[in-house]
Amino acid sequence: MKKLKAVIAVCLAAAMVIPFAACSKSNNKVIMSTNAQFPPFEYHSGNKIVGIDVEIANKIAAKLGKQLDIRDVDFETLPNEITSGKCDFVAAGMSITDERKVNMDFSDPYFDATQSIIVLKNSPVKSRTDLNGKTVGVQQGTTGDTYCTDEDKKADIHVKTVKRYNKGTDAISDLIAGRIDAVVIDDFPAQKFVQNNSEKLVKLSDALTVEHYAIAVKKGNKELLDTINSVLKDMKSDGEISKLVEQNKSALENG
Ligand code: GLN
Repeated sequence: MKKLKAVIAVCLAAAMVIPFAACSKSNNKVIMSTNAQFPPFEYHSGNKIVGIDVEIANKIAAKLGKQLDIRDVDFETLPNEITSGKCDFVAAGMSITDERKVNMDFSDPYFDATQSIIVLKNSPVKSRTDLNGKTVGVQQGTTGDTYCTDEDKKADIHVKTVKRYNKGTDAISDLIAGRIDAVVIDDFPAQKFVQNNSEKLVKLSDALTVEHYAIAVKKGNKELLDTINSVLKDMKSDGEISKLVEQNKSALENG
């Protein structure tokens, strides 16, 4: 009995200490998780991670009076970063979906996007319905993956095989090597990938979905969400987000 009490006491003590330990590590830091393979929203430049989401995250950190730390992980593990408390927020060009809303709370949207289709220049795939029966490359765990895999049977297109990659660039390499028929990925990175391989690749004018990017926090973290929303509101109303998007667009155009 004594032993049992001691065990219970230790467990209770641990239960009290662990949440504090988890909080204290982020006392003067705010931690963002992302997948820095998604230009121009987040990507590596030298030994730094930069991009539109990083600019927004820096503003959030400044508003909180904290230093920004960035964790770069696989896209599909991002929801787990939030639920397990490894980060305070996810900024990763992440689209709001009902499925994701079950496990995390989303800020107001800050960017509208679509899923685009990239093919080789001489490809017989010329429209969205041409994807029927084809082998398509996607980034694992993204909305492009969900759409092509069609687990909820909502999509109007039935591809034959979905090949999942951790990096969009790996999907593009397989497309160029002729191992897959198309890559489905968000419009902005699609433009960047096509532009980097403009002799070989084209982006179709057909898109697959309409989506909205938002920043995600742990369910119920209203305080942080309010701060994020106020930063986004300011950045939208003073035109800063559009400016960042335009800058990055012209950076895309100028190569
Ligand atoms: N917008 C897509 C999604 O939310 C992909 C984002 C990404 O690859 N970073 O699933």
